[in-house]
Amino acid sequence: MAVVSTPAERPAIRAALGRTAAFSAIYAAAVVAGRLALLDLTTLGLIGPAAGVGAIWFCVQRRAPTFWVDMLALSGFQYFLNLTMGASINEAVVVAAANLSQALVIVALMARWLPHAWGGGGRDPLRRPRDLWLLVAAAVASATVGAVVRSTGAWLLGDDSEVVGAGIWLTRNVVSIVIIVAFAMSVGNLIAVQHARRATVAGWLRGLAAELAATPGWRIAEHVALVAAAIASYVLVFANRDGLPLLFLLFGPTIWVAVRLSTAFVTFHNLVVTTIVVLFTLNGSGPLAAIEDHASRVVVTQLFVGMIAVVGLVLALSRDERAALADELVRDKGALASQTADTSRHAELMRAVIDSMADGLAVVADDGRVILGNPAARRLLGQPRLDQATVANIHSGLTHPDGRPVDKHEMPHMRALAGEPVQAMDVVVRNPGIPHDRVLRANATTVANGEGGRVAVVLFHEVTAERRHRDELANFAGVVAHDLLNPLGAMVAWADDADTVLAAAPPGEAVAEARRSLAQMQRVAGRMHLLINDLLTYTTARDATLRPADMDLAAMIRDVVTARTDIAPDQAAGAPRITVGTILPVHGDPILVRQLLDNLIGNAIKYTAPGAPARLTVSSTVDGPLVRVAIADRGLGIRPGQHAAIFENFYRAPGTDDYSGTGLGLAICKRIVERHGGTITAADNPGGGAVFAFTLPGAAGPVGAPQRAPRDAARALR
Ligand code: ADP
Repeated sequence: MAVVSTPAERPAIRAALGRTAAFSAIYAAAVVAGRLALLDLTTLGLIGPAAGVGAIWFCVQRRAPTFWVDMLALSGFQYFLNLTMGASINEAVVVAAANLSQALVIVALMARWLPHAWGGGGRDPLRRPRDLWLLVAAAVASATVGAVVRSTGAWLLGDDSEVVGAGIWLTRNVVSIVIIVAFAMSVGNLIAVQHARRATVAGWLRGLAAELAATPGWRIAEHVALVAAAIASYVLVFANRDGLPLLFLLFGPTIWVAVRLSTAFVTFHNLVVTTIVVLFTLNGSGPLAAIEDHASRVVVTQLFVGMIAVVGLVLALSRDERAALADELVRDKGALASQTADTSRHAELMRAVIDSMADGLAVVADDGRVILGNPAARRLLGQPRLDQATVANIHSGLTHPDGRPVDKHEMPHMRALAGEPVQAMDVVVRNPGIPHDRVLRANATTVANGEGGRVAVVLFHEVTAERRHRDELANFAGVVAHDLLNPLGAMVAWADDADTVLAAAPPGEAVAEARRSLAQMQRVAGRMHLLINDLLTYTTARDATLRPADMDLAAMIRDVVTARTDIAPDQAAGAPRITVGTILPVHGDPILVRQLLDNLIGNAIKYTAPGAPARLTVSSTVDGPLVRVAIADRGLGIRPGQHAAIFENFYRAPGTDDYSGTGLGLAICKRIVERHGGTITAADNPGGGAVFAFTLPGAAGPVGAPQRAPRDAARALR
């Protein structure tokens, strides 16, 4: 197979092939070492380092562009070696296939089970006992696959003696893979870390020397003592030719290494110990050499070194895991402490800000508990302290600006908790803690309390002076308006008289001129009359004591519609077409509500394009405890950005100069609706025109049935 490569890929391919060559050499050495460890003149190798080396080889080369060369090299090597060892071609093929499949399986399993670890695609060494168990499992699975391939091949070739051979192959290769791959993971991690730091070999060595220099003397002494103790134990156990079973002594240094030294050192220790045990046993000395049966000797030796390795690693990794968890705990604790400090600093700051506010702030739970009340709240409410009892009692001293007492359920926090956010609700506070009546403007809403419930946040500021000033001005305007009406009426009457007289006078240029001036004067007087009337209505809407009652809103709408239809300005355009849907009864002041309807229906008829008949629909829906009434028209519509402004006093939207008006009508509507505890909004009517919607409290009891305009009446309205 030809390797087709671009110039940019060539260095990578060269490096990959270089690694293939190096691993082939190491693999060859491992196979030779395994062969040298053949017991006496049998085919049973005491160790199988080639299994571990093959696993590392494939782990390193897995992503190499020339991985197929590696596969070829490993299996080819096994094939030729076995041929030279006297195996038939078929036998050599089987052994090569077994070794290749074993190496491929371990590489695949490492990538799947230990992706973060060196050999699995990451760069970590073994970090926790779980990693070790996964490595052991991968080793067992891959060696099993190898053994199955090998035994099946042998069986197909007519060799049944391979059952014992398969068991030995399995044990030996599992131990070999675990010990060698664990060591390679430590070394691989070391190299990967240095590589990531872009350290040169010289720099790395310098770093090691610096680390060594910084290591305390006793720690170095401990390493030396340990190595000495380990050597002494192994010599003691294996040099004894009597075959005394002193193997248990070897757990001493293993535990010492595992508990005190780094895990990397443990993997190294395992490798060295395995080599020592194998060399002594091959040499015929030590308790393992005393085992007569060769197969048993191989298996026991492998199990022994495997056990030593696993015990050492489990101890070391458990310790590492504990240390990592402890570190994490300390880090979390530190983070928590700094978070707590931040939170308490933040809380202090918030507290200082809230305490220094001129506006009152109170947070009230749904059971009436006052969770927070700032000094301004206490001062404004005239209470030395704010608690459940005081809040419950405050309402007895509260009235609406028109003198009606504030019901407990009308308290801002109660309304907010009932799901009705409060905006600019004016209340008068009167109690012994306050020398004079005080008017407070409250806003209230709810926020989550963090325990699945909600609390009311009430913010209020004093508007006593502002209200007084406004009241005085409004009273003044009311008085002035009222006082102006009489002279204005007289003026209009005199102008009428003068016009009548002039109509009878002999015609002439001077008379015509005088009559034109009089007509002009009457138009101006008419506008003035309109303005004064609106001013008076506004004052009434604002100040008159509310006398609410359950009302038949449908009947009132019919009245207003009939009156408005009769005086519709542009009859030439056709009579206004008004559709009235189902209208629910409401609870409100009949005089003010009539004013409200009259203004809105009047506007809907008025603001239509010249020559076009007015078309509007009045309907109502239930909105909780309120009734929502919508008046939708197909008139001029409202320009973008004007929907809120048109509710301001004396505001007239641009482009409506040709329509009579003072800009007070909607301000009056807003005032009336708000005094009833409702809201009013303007929106665009899909398809053209505007929709004005307001809410009023629903009637307490039935006022007739929900009313639909009778058919005849509806027809009459068109
Ligand atoms: P005015 O006395 O001028 O009618 P209003 O307060 O009733 O005063 O209305 C304010 C402005 O809102 C008007 O100038 C007009 O531009 C706009 N407006 C009110 N009602 C409507 C409507 N139904 N369609 C379009 N524009 C409207």
